[in-house]
Amino acid sequence: MRIAVLGAGVAGLTAAHRLGRAGHAVDVYERWPGLGGQAATLDVGDGARLERYYHHLFTSDGHIQALYAELGMPGAIEWRPSSVAFFARGALHPFTTPLDLLRFPPLSPAARVRLGAAVVALQRFAGDPAPFERVTARAWIERWMGRQAWEEVWGPLLRGKFGARADDIAMVWLWSKLRLRRSIRGEDARQERLGYPRESWEALFAALARSIEGAGGRVLTDRPAASVSRPDDGAGRLRVTAGAPGSFRRGHDPRAFDRTEAAEDYDAVLATVPNDVFERLLDPGVAGEVGEAYLARLRSVEYFTALCLLLEVERPLSRFYWTNVADRALPFVGLIEHTNFIEPERYGGRRFLYVANYLPHGHPLLDLDAGALLAAYEPGLRAVNPAFAHGWVRRAWRFAEPAAQPIVTVGYAERLPPLRTPARGLLLANTTQVYPEDRGTNYAVRLGGAAARAVLERIG
Ligand SMILES: Cc1cc2nc3c(=O)[nH]c(=O)nc-3n(C[C@H](O)[C@H](O)[C@H](O)COP(=O)(O)OP(=O)(O)OC[C@H]3O[C@@H](n4cnc5c(N)ncnc54)[C@H](O)[C@@H]3O)c2cc1C
Repeated sequence: MRIAVLGAGVAGLTAAHRLGRAGHAVDVYERWPGLGGQAATLDVGDGARLERYYHHLFTSDGHIQALYAELGMPGAIEWRPSSVAFFARGALHPFTTPLDLLRFPPLSPAARVRLGAAVVALQRFAGDPAPFERVTARAWIERWMGRQAWEEVWGPLLRGKFGARADDIAMVWLWSKLRLRRSIRGEDARQERLGYPRESWEALFAALARSIEGAGGRVLTDRPAASVSRPDDGAGRLRVTAGAPGSFRRGHDPRAFDRTEAAEDYDAVLATVPNDVFERLLDPGVAGEVGEAYLARLRSVEYFTALCLLLEVERPLSRFYWTNVADRALPFVGLIEHTNFIEPERYGGRRFLYVANYLPHGHPLLDLDAGALLAAYEPGLRAVNPAFAHGWVRRAWRFAEPAAQPIVTVGYAERLPPLRTPARGLLLANTTQVYPEDRGTNYAVRLGGAAARAVLERIG
């Protein structure tokens, strides 16, 4: 069987690896000149690699841990204590341990107890997601934890993920996060531990690529798919036409890529690209086979863009790994100080800080380059640490991912598109189908595995 996978992110690479293990040679087409998609890394000097967007794992991320084991890399992930803070009312407040909640100054003592009790009740007794599907997190929290808990804790946390759409997010998303993320028993009850691979996420991508190639497949980077069509003489196969090298400079829309002569026919095509890219890949005949009903589901999902400024800084901004920015006057939603989690020695003594934002498409901050973005953020960075000065920044990189965060609103489950499209041999597996969990590399591994099984059923 000839199978193409479009996209060499975690889902695409996992699916291709599993298909390889099942005896199929798979061609993976990737737009970017590197592997890993949203978890891709860059060389930050001295051969050390770091993710373009901040990344860590939770202890509950079993699918990705099993994948590491399957690839013969069982000890690859290190688990380290995390440290969390809120920046609110002009100050940093620790929020790492349950005791920190009980002392959290922005909440009244009664609100702290009410919040803590509601979280424990959710974790212990609320096993069924159904009641949380039809209500927003805001409405549920205001009802059961109180207004203050929304204003001071959960609202800022959800803004850190969904920007201005925080008020519309379904409670089921938060329910799943609370139930999965934090064990209320054992070692993690006191202080959360987070995972990070010793050699960054890159080692996983390299191992997956080796596995795919070992099974006779090809991993083609800087080789995007430009279109998917159904050749007349193809006996029901699908044709992938590749875009020319360097197409990534033209943006994300495959219709803007120069096409190569290279077109190859496949028994099955698994796309792991975002919804809008997927639709634009389809030639009119295949789009007709997929049909309006399926395409309408794809169009109904809204994405927010992740805008990330990665700074190499001379000294630490704070002592925390993860800071939720609750002060809406600041123009960003989170500060992730990677080298407060992984020691700077791993990077030749250098320190790295991510300034995080999630924004709707068309937001003016998305037009700024790294220098202009840093200038826009500097007053906010000084609000967090008054000593911060422009001279602290040695290097700045700006990354933007338009399809970073699907907005999970009430009724989302009914709009989830199935992995198999109505077009024969054509499948779609992307972050919009991770539900109700927060999308992440762990769930991309789960999705890739499910997609591989669906391909095998389709062609079996
Ligand atoms: C700011 C940020 C922080 C995150 N933090 C974490 C974290 O801490 N922990 C965690 O586990 N996860 C985190 N994630 C999420 C995680 O990175 C993603 O959920 C996961 O990587 C998604 O994998 P995927 O393969 O489904 O999608 P993607 O990674 O989006 O892969 C899709 C691939 O398709 C490619 N593509 C697009 N168009 C074409 C085309 N025409 N032809 C061929 N290829 C194409 C893209 O270049 C990309 O490589 C974070 C994401 C962001 C943005």
